[in-house]
Amino acid sequence: MSDVQENLARIQSRIEQACARSGRPPESVRLMAVSKNQPPSRVAEAAAAGLTLFGENRIQEAKVKIPECPSHLEWHFIGHLQSNKARDAANLFNVVQGVDSLALAQELQKQAAKQARSLPILLEVNVAGESSKFGWNPERLLGELLELSPLSRLEIHGLMTIAPYSEDPERARPVFRRLRELRDRCADLLGAPLPVLSMGMSGDLEVAIEEGATLVRVGTALFGERPRKADPQEGSDH
Ligand SMILES: *Cc1c(COP(=O)(O)O)cnc(C)c1O
Repeated sequence: MSDVQENLARIQSRIEQACARSGRPPESVRLMAVSKNQPPSRVAEAAAAGLTLFGENRIQEAKVKIPECPSHLEWHFIGHLQSNKARDAANLFNVVQGVDSLALAQELQKQAAKQARSLPILLEVNVAGESSKFGWNPERLLGELLELSPLSRLEIHGLMTIAPYSEDPERARPVFRRLRELRDRCADLLGAPLPVLSMGMSGDLEVAIEEGATLVRVGTALFGERPRKADPQEGSDH
């Protein structure tokens, strides 16, 4: 067995146990392999182990990497997207998670229209109000939400967040809970279900699942420590 296969088995059992504790079927949680900073060979190993959903947080890296990976995979952009890269994002990715402003949503609408496609998105919320993180302030999102409705090329599938880093995963619980509550309010306002809650990473995926995560984004626990990236200009590493 490759290390990725072994790690995957461990992660799947963590997901199953968290689902069992919260009375949820294990199929209600999708596992994303966060392959940022990992070469295509590692993606291929994860794909061989059965994973199909991958996340990248830098456009430049994804542009080179995705064409070198197996073609049946689903790719989500999970980083901070600058408007001038919206075209590439709409071109390369099945889903853009981390849409964090009205201006970016409008630019994605424009690019999706040009490419004659509809683009599923998740809205990123900075629940804890950390200055180091991107994402909507919750109140602001509620205020601007209805301005997203006319963007006909965008399908809002739900919300995503990155919890503040802590050694103690319980510290993330209120953040995940608030994201779920905010999702419920947004769904009411929009009159749409917003089924996806993208929250939880290697260290806190159990707590996220207990609070309703439908998609967990896992890098380190699957691939091991990430090789460091040279270019600090683009995207942010968490
Ligand atoms: C890097 C990253 C992850 C994965 O983090 P790990 O702690 O390595 O599992 C998840 N989500 C986002 C947005 C990331 O940038």
